Amino acid sequence: MIGSNGNYWESLCKRCGLCCYSKTVEEDRVVYHMDMPCRDLDTDTSRCRIYETRFKDNPTCRKMTLLKAMLAPYLPPSCGYVEWAQRKGIRFARKLRIVYLHGHR
Ligand code: SF4
Repeated sequence: MIGSNGNYWESLCKRCGLCCYSKTVEEDRVVYHMDMPCRDLDTDTSRCRIYETRFKDNPTCRKMTLLKAMLAPYLPPSCGYVEWAQRKGIRFARKLRIVYLHGHR
C-alpha cells in the first residue's frame, strides 16, 4: 500500500495517533498520558492537523526512522512500524509493558 503522498514508508503508519501523546518510559513500562496529546493532534480523528508541515511548524515532532522502528521501546506493539519491523525480523527493542493512562494528573 502506498500512502497519500506515494511514500511507502509513510504508508506503514496506521494513523492511530498513539505516538502523538506524551509518554514516560519507566523501568519496565511505558506510560502513555492520554490526557496529554500533542497540541497539533486532532483527538477526534487521531490525525495531525499540520501533517504536511509538522517538522517545520512543530519543533517537538520527530520523524519515524528505520532505527526507531527497530529499536524504540516506547512504540506500542500495534504501531505499523513495529509490526513491519517484526515481520522483517529486525525488531530488537526491549519489551516494555504499555500502560494507557486516562484522566488528569
Ligand atoms: S504509533 Fe505508529 S502507527 Fe500509530 S500514528 Fe504513530 S507511527 Fe503511526
